[in-house]
Amino acid sequence: MDFLQPLLGTQKGNLTEGLSKLKNHLSRLGYLTTIHKPSSSSPPPHDDLFDGALQQAVTDYQSFFSLPPTGALDAATLAHMGKPRCGVRDVSPPNTTAHYTFFPGQPKWPAGRRNLTYSFPPGTRADAHKAILDATNIWASVSPLKFKYTKDYSAADIKISFQSRDHGDGSAFDGSGGILAHAYAPTDGRLHFDGDERWVNGVVGGAFDLQTVGLHELGHVLGLGHSQDGGAVMFPQVGNGFRKVLGKDDIDGIRAFSPLIPPDLIPHHGYDHLPILPRRHPHRHASLPPPCWSPEETVALIDAYKDKWYSLHCGNLRGNHWQEVADDVASRCPALPPKTSVQCCHKMEKLRKRWLKDPPRFIATTAWSSLGSHPLSQAVVEISPAIRMLNFGS
Ligand SMILES: [Zn+2]
Ligand SMILES: [Zn+2]
Repeated sequence: MDFLQPLLGTQKGNLTEGLSKLKNHLSRLGYLTTIHKPSSSSPPPHDDLFDGALQQAVTDYQSFFSLPPTGALDAATLAHMGKPRCGVRDVSPPNTTAHYTFFPGQPKWPAGRRNLTYSFPPGTRADAHKAILDATNIWASVSPLKFKYTKDYSAADIKISFQSRDHGDGSAFDGSGGILAHAYAPTDGRLHFDGDERWVNGVVGGAFDLQTVGLHELGHVLGLGHSQDGGAVMFPQVGNGFRKVLGKDDIDGIRAFSPLIPPDLIPHHGYDHLPILPRRHPHRHASLPPPCWSPEETVALIDAYKDKWYSLHCGNLRGNHWQEVADDVASRCPALPPKTSVQCCHKMEKLRKRWLKDPPRFIATTAWSSLGSHPLSQAVVEISPAIRMLNFGS
């Protein structure tokens, strides 16, 4: 993306070397209309004239990312354009309340295809396998789709590979930085990582997280376009040394896309599925609130715990903190009999054990809260570092 900086201050009517590269870049991202043969691997030719079409494309780009829509190549716009991002084009959103988008024509996997297989070519790095397994589990936890690894690369629905520069699909990668990955709308199934980037499965400074970018690209494979919501996984740009989880906008998007959630994904009685047994000594515990947790309370507990954990600068909760968590839960669920601090503490410990035992399975099985837009599993993913360190210090 070195061609960007010399373009600072160029304006309509200028003939400046590098503008053709900017035009090619904006064409690929969907801001400039060009005739682009899918079979051709070279980008469409452009000239170095700053014309009206380019000005409009720059304005549209600025609008998509909530920058001042001036159409000018100012420092902020050029710096923004230089950030690492996905190579899939940005699509205008259909409405103003939600930011998620779909591909033109809303291609999707047929309703009968709920179980998708994925595969890698032989020799693909092991940490990519793990990252994609976790990413597929996350999408499965918020959609009716299920994913299964297969060794048979040629027969897989989703084909994931690392590619470099021109790799024969008409969307050449650009070496280190710039475009990180791209994927194709349903039911193509191709997902390409730029093999020239520094990848890692996790959070390491200077490297891109395979799970985060995999989650984003799988969103495309499932039919989601780019979101303008900077908190969404489907936002086109991503930083290095950073892991992102699904945001509300992503979940709203995939749910709008596949509204038919099979009944078996909706728990009838919260997450613990604990039968309410008649108490042996009804009077002895009459003053205690009921021990079973509603989904609302469980989500409120996780949120309250998260807030407390962060307010303690990621420190452990002591006895009085648990009382504050209990009070917070009670205020978030005023209609329900309040839980005690000990009950809150024990419930978090239970969640922690289930999480530690098998995080992907926890995500996959802790599917939906009956609250709709707030999947419990997602809330747990957000605070997994806190859950890992949970203790009962007093
Ligand atoms: Zn993308
Ligand atoms: Zn490709």
